[in-house]
Amino acid sequence: MKLHEYQAKEIFARYGIPVRNGTVIERPEQLDGLEIPYPLVLKAQVLVGGRGKAGGIKLAATPAEAREKAAQILGMTIKGETVRRLLVVEAAEIGAEYYLAFTVDRAARRLVAIASAAGGIDIEDVARATPEKIVKHHVDPTAGFHPYNAREMGRALGLGGKHLLQFAAIAHGLWRVCTEMDAELAEINPLAMVDGSLLAIDAKLIIDDNATYRHEGLPRNEELTELEALAKSQDLACVELDGDVAIIGNGAGLVMSTLDAIAHFGGRPANFLDVGGGATTENMAQAMSIVLRKSGVRALFVNIFGGITRCDDIARAIAAQPPAVPMVVRLTGTNEDEGRAILEAAGIHALTDPESAAREAVQLAAGAR
Ligand code: GDP
Ligand code: MN
Repeated sequence: MKLHEYQAKEIFARYGIPVRNGTVIERPEQLDGLEIPYPLVLKAQVLVGGRGKAGGIKLAATPAEAREKAAQILGMTIKGETVRRLLVVEAAEIGAEYYLAFTVDRAARRLVAIASAAGGIDIEDVARATPEKIVKHHVDPTAGFHPYNAREMGRALGLGGKHLLQFAAIAHGLWRVCTEMDAELAEINPLAMVDGSLLAIDAKLIIDDNATYRHEGLPRNEELTELEALAKSQDLACVELDGDVAIIGNGAGLVMSTLDAIAHFGGRPANFLDVGGGATTENMAQAMSIVLRKSGVRALFVNIFGGITRCDDIARAIAAQPPAVPMVVRLTGTNEDEGRAILEAAGIHALTDPESAAREAVQLAAGAR
């Protein structure tokens, strides 16, 4: 789960990392009441990187300029995301720009600290063109990351004296953010020299989705749509798309191939939900209620290959609450005969062949248009 810069900065500040707290606004008029000294910087709050290059970060020297630029940024689209909020912060006079991050190195099976004196720009470009400018420290999971590890990295960046100690404190704070918050990435780019001290100008934090339950008070996951969040709250995985065939399957592979089959026959999935292995009647009932909640759904395609999941459990949910839209059920595997009988008793005929079932679902959706 990705956090916005302003959300990440709040967390960084709790760990002693120096940031400038700003104010979040949604309309240019909200600039009027702010007591932030000029020049200030207006920063688009979207969950993608490279906002600066895309024109989503602008400096303003006067209130008039701030209003004008706020109006420009609010509503603009950056990498597919519409800007709805701006972080307004007192602008910093930036000297040197450093890069600092902790992330997971899957190949090394450890967290890795990454730092560079060539911060501010895309770190991927630095890594490609001048790898020698990047300092890495793989953290021994039993030993952890200590201030002396941080000082060693800081020295390699050319820092000394007061700045070295500041860097070490920030790096150690970021390590604690990363481990205590179960982050996949905790990043400061740039970590800038401002008035002789290091300051986190930007903040990026991605929390491991599997660990969000361990953290109370996290902001709402804005990567999820309302339906996706509803599914997640019931331990179901749903993804919203923009077609008109709702899809329920069991197992990621089957669901992916179901999407392909629908596309193959000229249909467009409205969403898909994986009820997973061992889905109960109750899970299936919840799944149907979620995918059908989406407006514009014209057909439901249920594609179940019973394994640990039993066809009769699935059939019971469908028979108890058949959808208002046309439906195709493909049912094979464990307890297939029982499942089929339950559906037949409710006047529903289940198919066995996934291809013809997909074709029929597409035709039903087209017919309902
Ligand atoms: P990103 O482009 O999404 O990574 O957003 P950043 O927060 O890193 O900002 C991008 C760039 O805008 C920075 O590298 C700086 O060059 C510039 N910038 C951001 N905040 C300030 C500021 O307070 N003062 C100045 N002078 N430049 C800033
Ligand atoms: Mn940045």
